[in-house]
Amino acid sequence: MTKSLLDQLNPEQRSAAETIEGPVLVLAGAGTGKTRVITFRIAYMLQCGVAPENILAMTFTNKAAREMKERIAAMVDEKAAKKVTVGTFHSFCSMILRREISRLGFTASFTIADDSDQKGILKQAIGELGFSTESTPVEQSKWYIGDCKNNTVSPEHAIRIADTDHNVRMAHVYERYQQILENQNMLDFDDMLFFVYRLFREFPDILEKYREKYHYILVDEYQDTNTVQFRMIEMLAGERCNLCVVGDDDQSIYGWRGAVVENILDFPRQFKKVKEVRLEQNYRSTGKILAAANKVIAHNQSRFDKELWSAKDEGENLKLVKTVSANDEAQFIADMIAQEISVDMNRTYKDFAILYRSNHMSRVLEQELRKAGIPYRLVGGQEFFSRKEIKDAAAYLKIIANPREDQSFLRIIGVPARGIGDKAIKTLKTLQAETRKPMTELIGDEHFLTQVSGAGNSSSRNFYNITSKYRTLFEEPGNLARKVTDYLKEIDYINSFLKIYKDQRDAEIRQENVYEFINAIAEFEMKTTAEPTLVNFLESYALLDDNDKTREEEENSDAVTLSTVHASKGLEFPYVFLTGMEFNLFPHERAVKDGSVDEELRLFYVAITRAQQNLILSYTGKRMRFGEFRNQRPSPFLEYLPEEIVDKCLPDDLFHTMSNEDLRDGFANIFAMLEED
Ligand code: ATP
Ligand code: MG
Repeated sequence: MTKSLLDQLNPEQRSAAETIEGPVLVLAGAGTGKTRVITFRIAYMLQCGVAPENILAMTFTNKAAREMKERIAAMVDEKAAKKVTVGTFHSFCSMILRREISRLGFTASFTIADDSDQKGILKQAIGELGFSTESTPVEQSKWYIGDCKNNTVSPEHAIRIADTDHNVRMAHVYERYQQILENQNMLDFDDMLFFVYRLFREFPDILEKYREKYHYILVDEYQDTNTVQFRMIEMLAGERCNLCVVGDDDQSIYGWRGAVVENILDFPRQFKKVKEVRLEQNYRSTGKILAAANKVIAHNQSRFDKELWSAKDEGENLKLVKTVSANDEAQFIADMIAQEISVDMNRTYKDFAILYRSNHMSRVLEQELRKAGIPYRLVGGQEFFSRKEIKDAAAYLKIIANPREDQSFLRIIGVPARGIGDKAIKTLKTLQAETRKPMTELIGDEHFLTQVSGAGNSSSRNFYNITSKYRTLFEEPGNLARKVTDYLKEIDYINSFLKIYKDQRDAEIRQENVYEFINAIAEFEMKTTAEPTLVNFLESYALLDDNDKTREEEENSDAVTLSTVHASKGLEFPYVFLTGMEFNLFPHERAVKDGSVDEELRLFYVAITRAQQNLILSYTGKRMRFGEFRNQRPSPFLEYLPEEIVDKCLPDDLFHTMSNEDLRDGFANIFAMLEED
């Protein structure tokens, strides 16, 4: 029985699975069976008589944890599998905290602060300390605090080591923020890890208890662990040190979030007598997909050198498809999926994944899939239209279309902060009770204005004047997207992101999303059969929202996967479409600026290695950006692909119809184009 289980592993995998005592490191490339080793190793341990309660396995996502448990249940027995602790670091920590957090002054009914709670509390903390959000921006404080926690730095420690005025302010905000959270019996996400670390460190009896429980520890995707995770695991493993970690430095893609790739590279030096295992056979992809992956990652400067091989067929050539526009790109993908499903009885929607670099790129794809009636599942990102900044932008439009919309007014009057605070809002509410006038009107009313002084007064007038002006402008049909852009600029929404979120990255993403929302308006304007008015757009937007909700409920049905490359880590699909292979999109513009192109290249490697049989890359000549069509150039990353196994084609070529020679001549050879760049 035991023998037949491990027979399903190759000799190297097997040696990693069999070595259940002492530290084991599996450092190996994509698709070589690292996750499989973890799964089989747990099953093997159970067969060897290890108590399931003694096993702890960490995965990167909840979904991966669920799948691992299911497989173990199928291999050994279900009852035992259920008793194994398999989960993400966060779920593991939350379990410990519910039991032990009283030692840190919280109660077991603590709640977790989400992003907006965090920001609200940060604003309060910054205000109470008498700092301005200009000198101490909320978003920046959030990243600072997260960074401290990921690196096991407490508020007191942060204050001690703060070396600039700026950092001193940040450290004090951290301290105050933490007090407010504690007063409300709240934790943020980073606290969950940090508090468990603190419990282990400050309370030896607690550490001992969990050491006695978990004799065997396994960690998947170890290359993306951060310092606090490392320390926690190190303490828990203790002297016994039955610790098996697996990962791939080539797939380290969360450096921007505090992951430390040295955790995996230095593992043999951090622990004694480490058994190191290398896996080189890739079981996932065809020879050609693998050849492309190998060639791409070889361009990365500092890496642990490893070459993958596959016993699978060479497979089909990769395809590189150029389309005229992003809509065409989305459309050919929808067409191709429909075609594959119709010609091959065994194909299901689940076999297809569409990957992209940035969340905002999902919109056009979602739209075309919906049109084609293809079911899809959006992974690793909120539904585009339910993002906060999009909802805010829509709220700005709603108060124009419907001046009675108090809800939307209240939503955006403080976004960005314009000096119209709680007191002014209270005054508005009182006036409204008396006059029954909408708030958008009262804000320009003298009765209100006489009761508001300073910045609040002038910005109230300003707000009223701008909204009134645009209400008139929007009555005229035409130029919808243009007017929306102007309005959102004039009312200081679009340009506020860089003011509100000093964290450049966050501000840029939000701003990009709002521009993508304006792109949707421009498209509506071009395509609608109804009159292209603001009211009509908002109606279509509201319907779209409903549609998206029903789709979300279909999580587990047969559906195409839409995902960022980041969120596709660890997964595999027979068919992968990698879209938007364009200059300044992939690698991301910001990465080019701040010199983190290496991480982007690893991300490209992750994307390629998700594909089992077919990999179709695409780029487009024209993409709507910032509300207008921009000419796009192909990504420099495409140059790294082995030209001899990549078919360059137009969408038509994929459907065995006559191709358009004129169009082909227009961009003859993209490799030639790249050279010119
Ligand atoms: P990634 O780096 O993307 O996380 P991985 O190294 O974790 O990949 P797995 O997902 O474990 O790789 O394995 C990739 C695929 O290869 C899976 O479908 C797995 O079942 C299959 N596989 C791995 N090893 C073997 C084997 N010895 N025999 C048959 N199939 C295998
Ligand atoms: Mg894996």
